[in-house]
Parts: sequence; structure tokens; C-alpha cells
Amino acid sequence: MGNIVAIVGRPNVGKSTLFNRLTGTRKAIVNETAGVTRDRNYGKADWNGIEFSLIDTGGFSVNSDDIFEDEIRKQVMLAIDESDAILFVLDVRHGITDFDEAVAKILRRTKKKVYVIANKADNNELIYTANEFYSLGIGDMVYPVSSVNGSGTGEMLDALVGDFIEKPEEEEELDLPRIAFVGRPNVGKSSTVNALLGVERNIVTEIAGTTRDSIHTRFQGFGHDFIMVDTAGVRKKPKVNEDLEFYSVMRSIRTIESSDVCVLILDAVRGLEAQDLAVLDIIIKNRKGCVIMVNKWDLLQKETNTMKEFEAEIRNKMAPFTDVPIIFTSAVEKVRLIKVLESAIEVYENRVRKIKTSELNKIMLKAIEHYRPAAVKGKFIQIKFVSQLPTYAPTFVFYCNLPQYIQDSYRRYLENQIRDNWNFSGVPIQVLMRKK
Ligand code: GDP
Ligand code: GDP
Repeated sequence: MGNIVAIVGRPNVGKSTLFNRLTGTRKAIVNETAGVTRDRNYGKADWNGIEFSLIDTGGFSVNSDDIFEDEIRKQVMLAIDESDAILFVLDVRHGITDFDEAVAKILRRTKKKVYVIANKADNNELIYTANEFYSLGIGDMVYPVSSVNGSGTGEMLDALVGDFIEKPEEEEELDLPRIAFVGRPNVGKSSTVNALLGVERNIVTEIAGTTRDSIHTRFQGFGHDFIMVDTAGVRKKPKVNEDLEFYSVMRSIRTIESSDVCVLILDAVRGLEAQDLAVLDIIIKNRKGCVIMVNKWDLLQKETNTMKEFEAEIRNKMAPFTDVPIIFTSAVEKVRLIKVLESAIEVYENRVRKIKTSELNKIMLKAIEHYRPAAVKGKFIQIKFVSQLPTYAPTFVFYCNLPQYIQDSYRRYLENQIRDNWNFSGVPIQVLMRKK
């Protein structure tokens, strides 16, 4: 399992700019068909081959100019709880504000590693000014960084990655599907886990020696054998205010990273909201399998098409990742919970599916012939060969004369063709183009 790094600081110091630089992404993707802006607060970063998860806590604020200090305080405390290291971002052009002091006060108390980032140090004079942040009394170093031009980030990353503690690999004693139930507070995670575990007490075994914050339970029954991954927090009620916007997101990261398939539980009464999409985003970025469980279905007044319409709305919001099983359940009435398990296991099988190269080429080259990539600047694009990499999650490489000219829409066409021909339901697929 990887390290989790949280970026904290007051609004406008450059947290999201730093996040984008380190993850190499743009902040928000606008899903035009669905009309939703999906905030991207979670990403994977890589420095000298060492991968880690990065979370921009500021990205969770509704309106960055209008946050209550109390809210930030809770956010910072939760970030400390749930991450391995903190990047505390400040603005050299502004100096230390009362707000920075308030955050610093909290950070001084933690045993977690905190890195003071003097951002907007775009030139030598400003790099020199950064020294004033030593007065905060956090850590032994201040890192002058310019998130805009990238200077200073190398030194900062060397230090950060150098301090990562090698985590003991979780004992991979059993080669069984690892399934997690995730979702925001009150959607019914505990009720589901307890209902499943309560089905027959003697079919579950608590596995000893799992990590500090996760509980792994082996489940055998109904012809299934798998491991249920649970964060310690799942069965407890949140300590902090339940409405805290990014509670479920922060709490989900480790669980998601240590599972193969995540069952994302939604509350039928509320539908799929931005916060659920944030958790889905983490699942996709980690390329884990996914099943959507619409729980509390018993609470809805239902007419003939209620389920169909509900499902269509969810898929629309999830676009472009829509090839996902959606199951309507009631944890209290124990309706369709076994179906959820069966779906999760099917998704697990889809995720490890390997297509024979000959079969893959036979079908995909025909699909490419049927609908060719558009010529660019008078040049024809030819895809000659495709293969699936032997990776843990499905990755397909298309060998091509001009890979740089392949459009996203064409890549999606290829992905859809793969999904039409083989069962990859619930599994994010990577489609790569390589020069041949
Ligand atoms: P956040 O609210 O902390 O996430 O801050 P943003 O990342 O949205 O940045 C706030 C403003 O500061 C934006 O106008 C950025 O372009 C600007 N900014 C961020 N980093 C730098 C930097 O390194 N140098 C300069 N000059 N401006 C920056
Ligand atoms: P968690 O915070 O996600 O673990 O949610 P809980 O399992 O603690 O459930 C929160 C509340 O929702 C509890 O009062 C449950 O009894 C209730 N609940 C959970 N699942 C269902 C369901 O399927 N139908 C109904 N009506 N209530 C449910």
C-alpha cells in the first residue's frame, strides 16, 4: 500500500496549482454530456519511480473565499489522521496570516511529517523572503517552491519521498478477491457488512495481522470465498461532524487502495452526488473494480419505471465510466445483498481477465477497419496491432504509426468495442497508443 500525502493551507496560496503540478492533471474535468463538473482532488503522483497518493483538501471547499475557520480546522485534523505526510502550503507574497498561524498551531502538535511549502517563490528575492516561515517552528526546513514554474519542487519531493516509511507488505497469504464497501456516512455500510457477516457466524474468520487501520475478514459461504476489507472507521461512527464534506473521501482512500473491488454504496433517497463522484474518482484512479449499490431502496415510493429512470440518471452522471453493475438493495430488509456479492465477484473476474492476442487482434482490427481514425493534416493513421499487457488491471496497447494524433473520442470508441466484445463490466480500462 502506498503513502498518502495531504495538501493543506488557506485559500489562494496555490494548493490546487501545486496539486496539478505534482499529479500532472488539470483540476476539474467537465463532463459535458452529464452537465457536472467533477472536482479532482485526489491524484497519483510519482517521483523517481515512487508512487504516492495526493489529496488537495482545499478542493473540497464549496467556496474557497468563504470558509469558516472551524471547518478548515476540522479538515486539517482529519487530513492529519488519514494521511502519512502533510504539505503545508503558504504564500511568500503574503507572508504569515492569522489563519496560517491557526493551521500551524494544529500542525505543530502532530507527530506526522509536515513540510512547509513557501509557494509563489518565483524568483530569488522571493526565495529569500521564504525564510520568514522558519518562525512557524514546524519541521527543520522551509521549501521555497513555485507551483507555477516548477522550481523548488524537486528538492521538496526528494525530501518527501526520502522520508516515506517502507510499509510492511500486507501478508498476501491468501489469493482471494478483496472486496470493500465504501460510501459516505449513513449510507448503510455497517448495516450491509453486519447483515452479510451475520448471515452465518461460522463462515467468517477475522484475519489477524492486518494493518493498523483495516480489518480483513474472510467470508466463505454460498459458494463464495473472499476477503472483506473494512477500515476500522467503517464500523465506528465518525468522530467529526458527519456533514464534513470530505469525511467519506478521506476515509475511503486506504480502503480503496487495499482492495480489488469496491462496492460504492449510495443512499437511494439522495441519489448520486458530488461527494459520491469524488469517491468514484479514487476508485477509477486506482483502477479498482466497482459495483454501485443503491441502498435504502425500501424508502422510495416506486412506480413502474422508477428503477430504470434512477439507473439511467446514475449512469449519466458517471459518464464516461458507465459500464458498471448497479444493484438496488435494502440492507435492513436484507434484499439483494447476496446479488451485490455476486456482482463484486464477477467484477473481480473481469478485472483479471486476459484476452488472447490472436482473438483480440481478430476482433479489434475488424472494428478499426469498420471505423478508422480520422486523418490528421493529410496523414493517415494506421493501427496495426493490439495486445493486452500482463498488468493487474486491464491495459490495452494499440501500436500505431502516429499515436499522438489519436483523439480521445477514438480512444473511447476502442474502449467501447472492447467492452462490447468481452465482459469488463465494473472495471476501468486503460487504452494506450504506442508508436510502431
Ligand atoms: P488554492 O486556493 O490554495 O488552491 O490556490 P490556487 O491553486 O487556486 O491558486 C491561487 C492563485 O495563485 C491562482 O491565481 C494561481 O495562479 C496563483 N498561484 C499558484 N501558485 C503560484 C506560484 O507558484 N506563483 C505565482 N506567481 N502564482 C501562483
Ligand atoms: P454507515 O454510516 O454507512 O455505516 O451507515 P449505517 O449502516 O450505520 O446506517 C445508517 C442508518 O441508515 C441506520 O439508521 C440504518 O438503520 C439505516 N439504514 C441502513 N441501510 C438501510 C436500508 O436499506 N433501508 C433503510 N430504511 N434504512 C437503512
